[in-house]
Amino acid sequence: MFKDKNLERVQEKVNAGERLFREEGLKLFSASDILALGKIADGIKKRRHGNKVTYVVNRQINPTNICVLSCKFCDYATKKNRPNAYAMTLEEILNHCSPDLKEVHIVGGLYHEWPFKFYLDIVRAIHEKFPAIQIKAYTAVEIDFFARMEKCSIEKILTRLKEAGLVCLPGGGAEVFSERVRKALFPFKIGAPRWLEIHKTAHQLGIRSNSTLLYGHIETHEERVDHMLKLRELQDETKGFLSFIPLAYQAGKGKVVSHSVSSLEDLKTIAIARILLDNFDHIKSYWVTMGEETASMALHFGADDLDGTIGKEKIMHAADATSPLGMAKERLEQLILSANGIPLERDALYNIQPNSEFLSAASR
Ligand code: SF4
Repeated sequence: MFKDKNLERVQEKVNAGERLFREEGLKLFSASDILALGKIADGIKKRRHGNKVTYVVNRQINPTNICVLSCKFCDYATKKNRPNAYAMTLEEILNHCSPDLKEVHIVGGLYHEWPFKFYLDIVRAIHEKFPAIQIKAYTAVEIDFFARMEKCSIEKILTRLKEAGLVCLPGGGAEVFSERVRKALFPFKIGAPRWLEIHKTAHQLGIRSNSTLLYGHIETHEERVDHMLKLRELQDETKGFLSFIPLAYQAGKGKVVSHSVSSLEDLKTIAIARILLDNFDHIKSYWVTMGEETASMALHFGADDLDGTIGKEKIMHAADATSPLGMAKERLEQLILSANGIPLERDALYNIQPNSEFLSAASR
């Protein structure tokens, strides 16, 4: 029993397997009883996953920070002639890979001097040298850039990437599906219709993908809810999304807002995502943006995955993220255990690895 009658009604709907509407989602953001909200979300997560919490031994590779765009919220991108600009060689990229990895996550700037062939060669070279590593590469923004460079269809770009060894798409570049926010912060970047079209095309080609929401800047709660509902709608149609990853905006150099959101707002957003996205298997607690402690707490608020070891994340750290650059597998397991979870190693497609030390505990 909750004191908040609205949350009581939400719990009843969740118990009956009923879906929440937009207005109900909005009311969740004004709920003051954050623990009750977390309890509802945790119940949903436990019914799906029990105490299992997954993570992946992965490496994030950001091949270049040179970008033709200058999105207002981005502290990562730069121009070619600036002292902080870099563009990795194929050899340098391969040196970031090792046989112990289950996934590489490749995202970076839109570098006009690299032909699509080079982006393709990155995928092919990693796949040929490390066939066991699953390659998750290029956001919808990059896919759109390649299609425009090559003057060809999204299908063609995705098909060629798949043939080269791409396994799935990351969820970045979605930001917030709001024209108002897009015009204010990233007017030259693709908006919701194109992002959704690219992911839908990927799903139709058998390429699974992930989804994100960048929150904690100028967006409203309505825009957060509308964003989640657009993803829910596409998932109803294609069932191609693997996960939803709320990304807390890093205030960084303070160009957009002066402070990042509080941990309470992080936990609330995770919980509401778990409640609203009833057709998503996985809600990710991304420790890079939330920090270790909040990410671990989020495992009690509906999240069932802690992302991965990452290696050397550059994008959020360019915006002064205070989390470590990478994390040891043992530390990830420790964070999961401290939240009473059972740590299980997975690959990019969320298949549990048979060598997972805690597998027998999970099957009990
Ligand atoms: S957010 Fe992406 S597209 Fe925009 S400037 Fe940064 S790297 Fe370029």
